[in-house]
Amino acid sequence: MDISEVTPEFRCGYATIIGRPNVGKSTLLNMIIGQKLSITSRKPQTTQRRLLGIKSGSDYQVIYTDTPGMQSKYKDAINRYMRREIISSLSHNDVVVFMVESLKWTVADEEILETIADTKIPVLLLVNKIDKTKDKEKLLPYIQKLSERRKFADLIPVSARNSINLVEVENTIKTFLPLGPAEFPIEQITDKSERFIIAEFIREKLIRKLGKELPYRITVTIEKFAREPEGVTIHAIIWVESTSQKSIVIGKDGGMLKSVGEQARKDIKVLLDCNVYLRTWVKVKKNWTDDEAALKQFGFEN
Ligand code: GDP
Ligand code: MG
Repeated sequence: MDISEVTPEFRCGYATIIGRPNVGKSTLLNMIIGQKLSITSRKPQTTQRRLLGIKSGSDYQVIYTDTPGMQSKYKDAINRYMRREIISSLSHNDVVVFMVESLKWTVADEEILETIADTKIPVLLLVNKIDKTKDKEKLLPYIQKLSERRKFADLIPVSARNSINLVEVENTIKTFLPLGPAEFPIEQITDKSERFIIAEFIREKLIRKLGKELPYRITVTIEKFAREPEGVTIHAIIWVESTSQKSIVIGKDGGMLKSVGEQARKDIKVLLDCNVYLRTWVKVKKNWTDDEAALKQFGFEN
């Protein structure tokens, strides 16, 4: 039975989470959905592609999008792609969740505020990482200042990682949804395939281990995904831009690649709930981040 058929008051709609890199968007999405879908790290530009996270209850379904962060210092194809994603996400949503960080305001936050200046969609402002703000008295003037910048539908201080005020966030989001039936089956939590999420888990381990610039130069594809009685066999390729990057990813005596594989395997095991046999290779595709055809080949399409 479709739950939306029995509740005339059912609400369903779209919420997009925007904010500068590293502010905590993917963490928020994972906490709301209650499962790791979107990968996170301390480095900017962890999220390369848009992902839907779907949260359903007895009388609602919220379809969240976690947008990749754009960085103005890069002007190449992958960044143009990310910018298009943010702009297009503004047009077909019922609420925009704009996340900023407690007591920290940067040029990137300013750019996003400008990008959404003319949007007619209600904007909910979340001030994240309040757990890091020891001096709580400073929070109020910061919030006050922000509220003078534009009309926000609501403003909630949160800690995504520590799950502070997230119930309030969800309840507020629900009020902006139109009446209507669920768009996705209520047990579905994402639009992405297991292959996609697995590739992301591998990329997350690489990002967390590698230096600052390299993560942005790496993408992962899954060449084989086979369910067998004894478990799942996965073959993954890690794509880099040069042979020097390749040797960094492989590491001394293959140590880096080995530990990436071991850690990714743990996450994949939790996701699939079965034995996982994971093999990884590193391959070079010169200049892929500024090559529209290569981006398509790796599944970046908008
Ligand atoms: P995104 O780039 O906006 O998607 O940010 P991520 O979700 O990847 O988070 C970036 C970093 O901030 C990660 O290391 C998170 O663990 C951390 N983070 C997220 N939310 C909080 C929070 O509420 N408090 C603190 N202290 N750290 C957080
Ligand atoms: Mg992210």
